[in-house]
Amino acid sequence: MQFYSTRDRNRVVTSSEAIAQGLSDEGGLFVPASFPQVDVQALCALDYPEMAAAIVGEYLTDYSKEFLAQATKTTYGAAFGGKAGYLAPVSQDVYALELWHGPTCAFKDYALQLMPKLLVEAKKNLGRTEKTLILVATSGDTGKAALDGYHDIPGVEIAVFYPTGGTSEIQRLQMATQEGGNVAVYAVRGNFDDAQTGVKKVFGDKAIAARLAERNIRLSSANSINWGRLVPQIVYYFAAYAQLLQAGKIVYGDKVDFCVPTGNFGDILAGYYAKQMGLPVGKLICASNENNVLTDFLTTGTYTAKREFFKTTSPSMDILVSSNLERLLYHVTGSDAEVAALMKSLAETGSYTVRPETLKTIQESFGCGWSSEEQVAGEIRARYEQNGYLCDTHTAVAFHVAEQQKREGVPMVVLSTASPFKFPRSVLEALGHTAPQNDFEAMQELEAVTHHDAPASLAALCQKAERFSTVIDPARIAQVALSYES
Ligand SMILES: *Cc1c(COP(=O)(O)O)cnc(C)c1O
Repeated sequence: MQFYSTRDRNRVVTSSEAIAQGLSDEGGLFVPASFPQVDVQALCALDYPEMAAAIVGEYLTDYSKEFLAQATKTTYGAAFGGKAGYLAPVSQDVYALELWHGPTCAFKDYALQLMPKLLVEAKKNLGRTEKTLILVATSGDTGKAALDGYHDIPGVEIAVFYPTGGTSEIQRLQMATQEGGNVAVYAVRGNFDDAQTGVKKVFGDKAIAARLAERNIRLSSANSINWGRLVPQIVYYFAAYAQLLQAGKIVYGDKVDFCVPTGNFGDILAGYYAKQMGLPVGKLICASNENNVLTDFLTTGTYTAKREFFKTTSPSMDILVSSNLERLLYHVTGSDAEVAALMKSLAETGSYTVRPETLKTIQESFGCGWSSEEQVAGEIRARYEQNGYLCDTHTAVAFHVAEQQKREGVPMVVLSTASPFKFPRSVLEALGHTAPQNDFEAMQELEAVTHHDAPASLAALCQKAERFSTVIDPARIAQVALSYES
C-alpha cells in the first residue's frame, strides 16, 4: 500500500515512511492510496489481537505478518485486562463500546500502545539509525497515552505539551508523574489550539529540522495526524460488529450506526475507513460538545475556526481545528489541489467552505449533533439512573446525541472513550452530589456512591511523585525542541 499527501499527490511514501515521518513536508497528511476490501465475516471470527494484525496489515504492507501478529498480541492482551474492544449493552439496541480498559483509561491507548512498536520497526525497515524526537500537543488524554507508550523506547525521546488548566487534575497528574528517562512534560500557557499550533509550527520549520538533523535527530509526531495513530482505531469498529453478530443482535449484512465523541476527528475517521473497507456501517454520527465547529461544518459545509473557545467538562474534545477532517476532504474530493486550497484558506482566513457536492457526499456517511454542558450532566445522570450505566463526560456527549439520532431497528453503538473515574468531579456533580475540590477524594466518593471500583492505575496516582512542573509560552516550544542532543 502506498500513501499520498493530502496536499500533494506526488509525495508518495511507504507505510514505514508515513509512520516514521508523521506529517508530509508541505504540511499535508498521509492517506492510503486505496481502501483495501476485506472479508468481514472471516475477520469477525478472529480474536482482538488477530483481528488487529489482519486489519493493520492491510495498510502496513511493508511490515512482516509475523511482526504484526506478535506486536498486536503483546499490545492488546493483558494490558487491556482482556477487555480490548469490549461492547456493553446499555438499553434496547444501544451499546457502549468501552475503549478505556487500557493502561491510561482512555481510548487513545489503542493507538499509542501499538505506535511505539510500529515506529521502531519502521526505522528498522528503512535502515534508519537516527534518534526520533516526538513532540505531542495534547488536551489531556493523548499526552499520557503517548508517554506511557513511548517511555524508555530505545532511540526515542518524547516531549509533551498540554494547555495550563485545560486538563482535569487527574490527567495533569498522570502526565506529571510519568516515569522514564526519555520523557519530558510542559504546561503551555493558553488553550489546546495554542499548544497544537506551537507544535505544528516546529514541524513546519525547515531550519529547526536542519539543525536537529546535524545532531542526527529527526522530529516525529504522535498526534492523530500520524497514520500509525489512526490505523489501530479501525479495528474496534469491526470488533463491535463481531460482538453484535455473536450475540445474535444482528445478522451479517445488517447495518450498525456508531456515535463518536469527537475532537480531532481521528476516532470517527477510523470508522469511515472501516466502512470503506466493507464493514456494514450505517451512519457515523459526529458528537461535539459546546465547541461545535464540526456540527456546523457537517450541517452547512462551512468550517469556521474563528469562534469563541469554550472550556468544557469534556476537555479532550475542546478543539477548534480538527486536523483529521483534512483526510476526509481528500477522500471525498479526490483532489490534492482542492484540499491544499481549503487548508490555505483555513490558515489565512480561519475558515473554508466546501462545494455543495462535497458536503452532500459527506452527509451520506456522517450525521452530527452537539451537547450543552447541562445536557452532558443530565445524560450522565439519566444513563446511571435509568440503565445503571456509569459513563464519563465525553461519552455522555455522544449518548445525548445518539438518543436524538437513533433509528428504529438499527443498533446504535456509542464509543465510550474514557473511564468515568478520569473525570470524577464532573461525574459526581452530574449525579447530584457536591464534589470535593480534590480529584482523589472525588474518586473515592464516586466509588462509594456507585459501588464501582476506580481503575487501579488512577487510584495509585496520589502516591506518585510529580516530576514535571515547568510552564512555558507557546513560542518556547521551538526552543525545547532545539535543546535536544543526539
Ligand atoms: C481524544 C478524545 C476524544 C476525541 O477523539 P478524536 O480522535 O480527537 O476525535 C474523545 N474522548 C476522549 C476521552 C478522548 O481522549
